[in-house]
Amino acid sequence: MNFPCDKCGLCCRMIGGISALHDFDRGDGVCVHLHDNLCSIYDSRPLICNTSEMYDAFFKNIMTPDEFIDMNLNACRKIKKLNRENVR
Ligand code: SF4
Ligand code: SF4
Repeated sequence: MNFPCDKCGLCCRMIGGISALHDFDRGDGVCVHLHDNLCSIYDSRPLICNTSEMYDAFFKNIMTPDEFIDMNLNACRKIKKLNRENVR
């Protein structure tokens, strides 16, 4: 699956409240594995951070890959909008 991530890094700076990433939160919502705005454990990142594996594990029977990508892109847009509002 080719997810069109632009590597803004925002989702990795807003992990507070995501129980699956609780142990990765350095205390301010930023993942301890985000280095130079990139995932330092990319090849072994958890399932929740891996769109292809998440799709295969939980979504392939309920939506198409394109629908899954659209759903995730909508989440990206919401995160970016929230970030814009917070920096105003
Ligand atoms: S918010 Fe979306 S575009 Fe930005 S790094 Fe995360 S997945 Fe990629
Ligand atoms: S493990 Fe990697 S992809 Fe997942 S939140 Fe942390 S830095 Fe981002």
